[in-house]
Amino acid sequence: MRLIDADTVCKKLEGYARDCEEADDRVAGGVFLDAISEIQDAPTIDPKDLQPHGHWIEHPTGGLVCSHCHRYKPDEWRSMCCPNCGARMREEM
Ligand SMILES: [Zn+2]
Repeated sequence: MRLIDADTVCKKLEGYARDCEEADDRVAGGVFLDAISEIQDAPTIDPKDLQPHGHWIEHPTGGLVCSHCHRYKPDEWRSMCCPNCGARMREEM
């Protein structure tokens, strides 16, 4: 998967559709309009959903371990995000 700017793509396709309309090529123009429709109907993803999630695990000798990247940090300050991988921390389960 990769993120794209769908609005920019749709504007380009609208331009191609207009070009086809001006050239009286309704079939090709219709294909561009169908493509625009498909892009507009595609599911969207909230960028926040792409951030990994984890929770802090208490290490037996002190300190905490990130459940996502398993990196140990010697202090016991429970930050909102892992300083190593950036995982957003939830309450322990
Ligand atoms: Zn981490």
